[in-house]
Amino acid sequence: MEQLTELYTTMGVSPAVYQYGEEAIARLRDRFEEIDRIAEYNQAKVLRAMQKHRVSAACFAATTGYGYDDVGRDNLERVYADVFHTEAALVRPQITCGTHALAVALSANLLPGDELLSPADGPYDTLEEVIGIRESPCSLKEYGVSYRQVDLLPDGSFDYENIRKAINEKTKLVTIQRSKGYATRPTFSVKQIGELIAFVKSIKPDLICMVDNCYGEFVETIEPSDVGADMVVGSLIKNPGGGLAPIGGYICGTKACVSRCAFRLSAPGLGQEVGANLGLMPQLYQGFFMAPTVVAGAEKGAVFAANLYEPLGFRCIPGASETRHDIIQAVELGSEAAMVAFCRGIQAAAPVDSFATPLPWDMPGYDSKVIMAAGAFVQGSSIELSADGPIRPPYAVYFQGGLTWYHAKLGILMSLQQLCDAGIVQL
Ligand SMILES: *Cc1c(COP(=O)(O)O)cnc(C)c1O
Repeated sequence: MEQLTELYTTMGVSPAVYQYGEEAIARLRDRFEEIDRIAEYNQAKVLRAMQKHRVSAACFAATTGYGYDDVGRDNLERVYADVFHTEAALVRPQITCGTHALAVALSANLLPGDELLSPADGPYDTLEEVIGIRESPCSLKEYGVSYRQVDLLPDGSFDYENIRKAINEKTKLVTIQRSKGYATRPTFSVKQIGELIAFVKSIKPDLICMVDNCYGEFVETIEPSDVGADMVVGSLIKNPGGGLAPIGGYICGTKACVSRCAFRLSAPGLGQEVGANLGLMPQLYQGFFMAPTVVAGAEKGAVFAANLYEPLGFRCIPGASETRHDIIQAVELGSEAAMVAFCRGIQAAAPVDSFATPLPWDMPGYDSKVIMAAGAFVQGSSIELSADGPIRPPYAVYFQGGLTWYHAKLGILMSLQQLCDAGIVQL
């Protein structure tokens, strides 16, 4: 057999970079074991749910048209509800992305005169238009739903005093985002989210608590719905789709909340009864089955990246030895040239479009140029290996995904190789 180092050399990774990587991995044995333990637990959780709900070939049949009595779709929703320990779930290809799922959950459960509270910093960029923080047709604001926000304290903790003051007779729904997304705050653990939910409910027990769970699924053994969230919401082209779901989103939660979401998604009176599965059930079931392992691989990649780059003097968020609660890794590279080199490495390691060269580009909605590297089977999928970031100080790339640990590893090694070749890093 050809030696792995020789094979990697032909793919552009030098023995020096490979060796540097192996030294980092040797230090990570315990971290990787812990990630594997969590994956094993979550795999069992998913398997038990699939067995309990007697998933069979009948669930994979395609339906078209209205999709009445869609056995596969209805059962998939029971499987999701079981894994998230919720009364109900809405999981469908008609939910087009994470933003759509969140918009449905919010607009279904907020009525004119109600107030939405974000008690731990502002929400993800795309939600600004949903809420009306940035003006947009059909925003919640346009429909008479007001919005209030409490920022985190400088040390990243919850500002309980001002959260208490912000809750008033109009406050109806509280939205909490688990992952930092592209912000610089830390990602919250499920336990922290539980503490925040308990606090707001102690002030007003009938508040609906929604958690934007994007990028967080299966990183821990519990989910926000295990600590009091009334709705957890996410995208199927991130963690729970396992890289196989080509589209979709989910909302798991109480019957009362989820059934309103179904009426909002389709139409009042129709709700969850309509929505053909269009032949996507095999990917949605199999993706969910694969998700705990895929998430573990992506998380190993993120930990590896931090442990490769931090010792070289680049600030990593989270840091090399920090525990993590999502699969996103930010690396502050300090210059445009370094960002370009990093992204070239990720691109060159991809199974799809490896021959493409990422370049900084003006993107609609951004005030600086942006660079993106991705070579994915599912367009835009961010559970697949990708890296991106705005070209401005501190020149941070956000790195996430990888359907297998070995691919994530190669991508990160290739990124480091590019930085070495550009003379930015000396090993
Ligand atoms: C990705 C993401 C979203 C939006 O999901 P899309 O599928 O891109 O619409 C919302 N919140 C967080 C934290 C995310 O990471």
